[in-house]
Amino acid sequence: MIDDEEFEQVLPVTVRRESLPKPQGEEIFKMPTWNCFCCHDTGWVQYHLAKRKIRGYDPNIHANPVCQNCNLGSRWLHLKGNTDKQLTKIDCQKLDRIERRNWEETTRLQFEGFQKNKQLIDETLAQLAMRKSLRKRARTIAEESHAQYKHDLERSNKYESVQGVQDAEA
Ligand SMILES: [Zn+2]
Repeated sequence: MIDDEEFEQVLPVTVRRESLPKPQGEEIFKMPTWNCFCCHDTGWVQYHLAKRKIRGYDPNIHANPVCQNCNLGSRWLHLKGNTDKQLTKIDCQKLDRIERRNWEETTRLQFEGFQKNKQLIDETLAQLAMRKSLRKRARTIAEESHAQYKHDLERSNKYESVQGVQDAEA
């Protein structure tokens, strides 16, 4: 009997990142390799970090904050009038630390999620293997006729009511 809220189980699709040397397993969940987490090696302080310091910062209307944690900010200093140098080196070092912690946490959560998924996959595979081995055994005549009976009832939509009576008798 297929319940209204039950689903035929399928396996999750494995994440593949071809650029990594080991596309499967724990290697997927690595911290980004930026030298500077404040600007992600762009020279511009990342928006979500900059707004911690600049109240109401909107990158669409306000000048871009230059990173002072690394020397990459210097590449933008010629854009006078479109740069904001209010974030100090200490601010940017602090933002670098915050962003590193965020990424460590994200990576940890991704890895934990991966382990849970892996466990789920292993369990599902084990269940599938078990079901398959059960089906290998030929049905007895009694089982066969019961299965046929159930099948006929299901087709005639009377199975649920009959099953209810059977359960009550059991
Ligand atoms: Zn930087």
